[in-house]
Amino acid sequence: MSARPVLGCIADDFTGATDLANNLVRSGMRTVQTIGVPADAAAAIDADAIVVALKSRTLPAAQAVEQSLAALRWLQSQGVEQIYFKYCSTFDSTAQGNIGPVTDALLDALQGPGQGFTIVCPAFPENQRTVFKGHLFVGDQLLSDSGMREHPLTPMTDANLVRVMQAQTHRPVGLVSYDTVRLGSAAISERFAALQAQGVGVAVVDAITHADLMSIGKALARMPLVTAGSGIALGLAQNWPGCSLGAGTKAHALPAASGLRAVVSGSCSQATNAQVLHFRQQGHPAFAVDPLAIAAGDDVVALALAWARPLLAQGPVLIYATAESAAVQAVQAQLGVARAGALVEQTLSRIAVGLVDSGVQQLVVAGGETSGAVVQALGVQRMAIGPQIDPGVPWTAVQSAQWPDQTLHLALKSGNFGSADFFTKAFMLLQEPS
Ligand code: ADP
Repeated sequence: MSARPVLGCIADDFTGATDLANNLVRSGMRTVQTIGVPADAAAAIDADAIVVALKSRTLPAAQAVEQSLAALRWLQSQGVEQIYFKYCSTFDSTAQGNIGPVTDALLDALQGPGQGFTIVCPAFPENQRTVFKGHLFVGDQLLSDSGMREHPLTPMTDANLVRVMQAQTHRPVGLVSYDTVRLGSAAISERFAALQAQGVGVAVVDAITHADLMSIGKALARMPLVTAGSGIALGLAQNWPGCSLGAGTKAHALPAASGLRAVVSGSCSQATNAQVLHFRQQGHPAFAVDPLAIAAGDDVVALALAWARPLLAQGPVLIYATAESAAVQAVQAQLGVARAGALVEQTLSRIAVGLVDSGVQQLVVAGGETSGAVVQALGVQRMAIGPQIDPGVPWTAVQSAQWPDQTLHLALKSGNFGSADFFTKAFMLLQEPS
C-alpha cells in the first residue's frame, strides 16, 4: 500500500469518472473520486489513485482547458506521479475538441510548451471498443457507422483516430499499430521512443484484447501523461506493485453498510424500465412520481416521503419517475422536454435528501442526469469506490458536509447499465461481508 496517491486522473464527465474509478479498483488500486476540483488543497487523500470528475466534455474548449489545468494543479499538490486524462471510449468530441486542446494544455504544463509525448487509446475490449490500424470500432462497426454518427452533441463521423486527433492538437500525431502492440511492452516502448525521436507528440495506440491493455499499460510506466478511455486503466496498477491487489486483499473494501435502503429512479431507458418492473414484481413497495402532478403544484416531495417513512424499516423502497417512451413523450408534449426533465430532477433530488434525513444510508440512483442532480443536492464531495454491482456501476461510500457523522453508500447507475435484477442485487451485494 502506497503512502500517497500515485495516479491522478481527470475525467471529462461524471459517469465516465465512476467507470474509470471502477476499473482502477478492479486493477487493485484504492481509489477516491472527487466531484469537481476540491477546494481544500491541503487535505491529504488516503488512496492509490484519485479521479477528479469534471463536466468538461462539451464546454467551450477554453473552459475545458481551464478546469483541467485546475484539476492538474490540485492533483500535483497531492504528489501524484502520473496524470491520466480520461475521455469516452467512443472518443466523444467535436472537430475542435475538447480532447486535443486539453491534451495539449496538460502536456505543455507537464513537459513544456510543445514538448513531451503521450498516447491516445479509447480501447476497452471487454465493452466492445477496439482500435485497429488507428480506427475505432464499436462492436463490429466502425465508430463512424455506429449510433455515435447521430449523437446530438458530439457526432463521430470519422473512425480514423489519427485524423480526428490531428484536427484537434498542435502536436504531430503518429500510430503504434497492432503489429507492434502484439509483440509486447518492450516493442511498444521502442516504438514510443522512435516516434518521439521523429517529433511525434501524440501516438494513437491499437488494442484489441485485454492482454494488449496490459502490455500497453506496462509500456506507460513513468510516462507523465496518459490519455485514454477507462480500459487502459486496467493495465496501469502493475507499474506500482505496492498498490496492486495481493492475494486476499480487497482494494474495494468500504466501511460496513448500515441504515435504511432506497432507490430513486429518474431514468427512462429500457434497462431501467425493466429494473423498475422487476423490483415491483418482487413485491417491494414503489411510489410513482407523476411529472404532471409536480407541474400542477402538488407537493410530491412531501407525499413521497410520507409514503416512504413507515415502509423503510421493512426493506428497500423505490421512488420512480421512470416511464415508457410514449408516456414520457406525452409529458414532454405538455411541459416541454427541458421543463419536464428539470421538474423531475429537482423533485427526485429533494426526495433523496428527505430519504437520507429519514435514515436512508444505502441509496441507489438510476439515471445520468438524475445522478448529477442527486449528488449535488446531497452535497457530495468525495466518493470512495467499492465493489462492482454490474460493469460500470460500483457501490461508493460518500462524504457529505450535510451528514458529517454518517457513512452514506451510494450507487449511481447510468441509464442503460445493469441487469433486470440490478436494484435487489445491489442491496444484496452490500450486505455481504467484505
Ligand atoms: P438516463 O441515464 O437513462 O439517460 P437521465 O437521468 O440522464 O437518465 O435522464 C432522464 C431524464 O428524463 C431526466 O431529466 C429526468 O428528469 C427525465 N424524466 C424522468 N422521468 C420522466 C417522465 N416520466 N417524464 C418526462 N421526463 C422524465
